[in-house]
Order: sequence, then structure tokens, then C-alpha cells
Amino acid sequence: MRIGLYPGTFDPLTLGHMDIISRATVLVDRLVIGVAINRDKGPFFSLEERVAMIEAECEALSVRTGTEIVVHPFENLLIDCARDVGAAMIIRGLRAVADFEYEYQMVGMNRVLDSSIETVFLMAEARYQAIASRLVKEIARLGGDVSKFVPPRINASLRERFGPVTVGV
Ligand code: ADP
Repeated sequence: MRIGLYPGTFDPLTLGHMDIISRATVLVDRLVIGVAINRDKGPFFSLEERVAMIEAECEALSVRTGTEIVVHPFENLLIDCARDVGAAMIIRGLRAVADFEYEYQMVGMNRVLDSSIETVFLMAEARYQAIASRLVKEIARLGGDVSKFVPPRINASLRERFGPVTVGV
């Protein structure tokens, strides 16, 4: 059984993440989505909320593709998490050149820590490539429409959280 680990913060899950998850299902029999607890980053959605969102959004995809999708919170070193879940590969999404520098260093250092685990990079479809969780939160906070960037249920959670925007007064 081929197992892949797709790690991230997913604060919140976007259509860019979903595109990468969907592409990853072609490569593995079991896809473990590693949700970084990231206490330092002070995530906007709690770990429980992020896990529940990913589980809800991936259920139908798992049935459709036959790839088992498991959501796994982690706080330890990425390479240790990969070993814990039995992953043969770490899957990352690449957006722009800006992602490259950081990812390049990560691969180099992870390879020294464990040379048996490969990192595989996938690119989202063009229309999803510019999506970033950080900007989604910023737009939603200012009352903008993020329905083209996140699944409908997550859009609803963002609206609920930020509420209507009142200008002036
Ligand atoms: P991290 O804190 O690891 O950056 P993110 O949740 O922001 O966590 O991203 C998780 C992974 O998904 C990363 O590999 C990131 O490059 C990738 N990713 C995020 N958004 C997109 C997107 N729009 N297109 C392709 N890959 C993406």
C-alpha cells in the first residue's frame, strides 16, 4: 500500500488545497492529510475546526476515487510524522517562485534526516494557484466574497465568524 502525507496548516482549507488533494489521490492508496497544530502561528480556526472541515470536504472525494483519506493532526517534526504514518512520500503544493526557496531548503534538510522519504511537488490548476489561506482570511475579514476560493461550507464558516461588515458610522 502506497501512503502519502500532505502536510499543511489548512487555516482554512481552500480550493487550492482541494485541487492538490484530488491530484494526490491518483498517486497513493492512502492519503494522510497532516494538520499542523501550529500553536505559535495562532491559527484562526481551531485544530478541531480545521480537522472537521477537511474531513467533511474529503469524504465524497475518497468515495469517488477509492483512495482512503485520513486526517492526522501533528505537532512533531514533519519527517517523524511521515515515518509515524508509514508515508513513502511527502506531498507539497507549489504555487509561485516564492514557494520554491523554502521548499528547496526543506527537501534538502529532510533528505539528510531521512533519505528514504521522497518529497513530491504538485501544481494546482491555474485558476487555483494564486489562492492562499492568509489572503482568504484577510478578504473575508474585510467583507469580500471568497466563494471562488473556498468550498461553500467553509465560505459559510468564514461569514459566520466575521459577520456582516459595517462601514462608517
Ligand atoms: P503551510 O503552513 O505548510 O504553508 P498551507 O496550509 O498554507 O500550510 O499549505 C499547505 C500546502 O499546500 C503547501 O505545500 C502549500 O504550498 C500548498 N498550497 C496552498 N495553497 C495552494 C494553492 N493555491 N495551490 C497549490 N498549492 C497550494
